[in-house]
Amino acid sequence: MLYEHLGINEKGHLTIGGLDAVDLAAEFGAPLYVLDEDRVRANCRRYTQAMGQYMPAGSQPLFAGKALCFKGLYPVLKEEGMGADVVSPGEIYTALAGGFPPEQLYFHGNNKTDEDIQYALDQGVGHFIVDNPLELAQLNHFAGARGRRQKVLLRVTPGIDPHTLQAINTGRIDCQFGVPIETGQAAAFVAEALTMEHLEVEGFHSHIGSQIFEAEPFCDAVDILLNFAQDLREKLGFTVQVLNLGGGFGVRYQESDPQVDIPGNIRALAEHLETGCAAKGYPLPRILLEPGRSIVADAGVTLYQVGGVKTIQGYRSYVTVNGGMTDNPRYALYQSPYTVLPADRMDDPADFLCSVAGRCCESGDLIQENIHLPQMQRGDLLAVLTTGAYNFTMASNYNRLCRPALVMLREGKARLAVRRQTFEDLTACEL
Ligand SMILES: *Cc1c(COP(=O)(O)O)cnc(C)c1O
Repeated sequence: MLYEHLGINEKGHLTIGGLDAVDLAAEFGAPLYVLDEDRVRANCRRYTQAMGQYMPAGSQPLFAGKALCFKGLYPVLKEEGMGADVVSPGEIYTALAGGFPPEQLYFHGNNKTDEDIQYALDQGVGHFIVDNPLELAQLNHFAGARGRRQKVLLRVTPGIDPHTLQAINTGRIDCQFGVPIETGQAAAFVAEALTMEHLEVEGFHSHIGSQIFEAEPFCDAVDILLNFAQDLREKLGFTVQVLNLGGGFGVRYQESDPQVDIPGNIRALAEHLETGCAAKGYPLPRILLEPGRSIVADAGVTLYQVGGVKTIQGYRSYVTVNGGMTDNPRYALYQSPYTVLPADRMDDPADFLCSVAGRCCESGDLIQENIHLPQMQRGDLLAVLTTGAYNFTMASNYNRLCRPALVMLREGKARLAVRRQTFEDLTACEL
């Protein structure tokens, strides 16, 4: 098994957090997003404990809400001592509706509208992560109008290529997020920020990419950020208190993916930072990390009912499921690998080569191609693993399919956290 919270019971059924996947689908329907809350909590603790142990006091992981965002997640994050990243007023609203403290929110985004900025200020969002000089001026203006001094981090791009997919690689110079260090623009950005009366610049943010398996690219980013910080200290007399190194640690989608040692990487990163600061005589900044995927991905499983099996003679066989790119667009978007399991016949020999297709009217609506399953029949249950991140949040109503329900599992009990959409929901906004 890919993870220790998955198992097989005496009926040959997949278990998630000790609960029978077939029972879950029977009770809550399919397709179904299943999220093992115990696993989410354990993933949070890998960060909070290691950062608490190895990094300067006040260092903290912030959960990146774009990976998974619904009300019921935020009490869990709060209890686990996580901060949270938000990228839109909708995410702010959701976090606050879930009882999350606004001062623990960090507001991202490369195009915050005037409405977004004012909404976030009025809600008391703790930090803005400012993407560019135009936002700086606008935020300064609106903070001033409220008689406030708003804490900010400035997003800079260190120009690192962590050798991941182009589509999820944001540390390179040529990208639409942040201001590049190499061109000198970031230095000007910081200098300008320091002149803003209503902003308090605490430090920098950088996000180098996603699905990263070791500490090395983060250490490279630290080197670049420290050199940059040192330079600015000499020129502007500004000392960084906070370095936010972004998210990006990877997860196992398939057996062939490596296991990421999060605490080990955090320790390596902390030691690298300490050595770098000591060598420069630079005061040790607090560290923020922004894990999304590595907090929720492996805690999620999507359950689908099989509708049919179709063999195109001389070509291949398709197994069709009652969901698809509407609940998980990641294979259609960038051929993301997944592990697919026959949840109701785990002990049967997997001798059937097939591709799993969704039910949407798109030939690209595939969940995975050329995998081995047992012979499938209508009514069988398929489980797609590692769907806790970037599935629920990327879902759509294409073909007017209703979005699945989401159940959370805690200590052997399941509870509905997001109900399945209804047809009425589909037309709710339509006048
Ligand atoms: C996407 C993103 C994250 C989270 O990345 P993961 O790979 O899910 O850990 C964190 N910070 C920023 C700025 C991001 O864009």
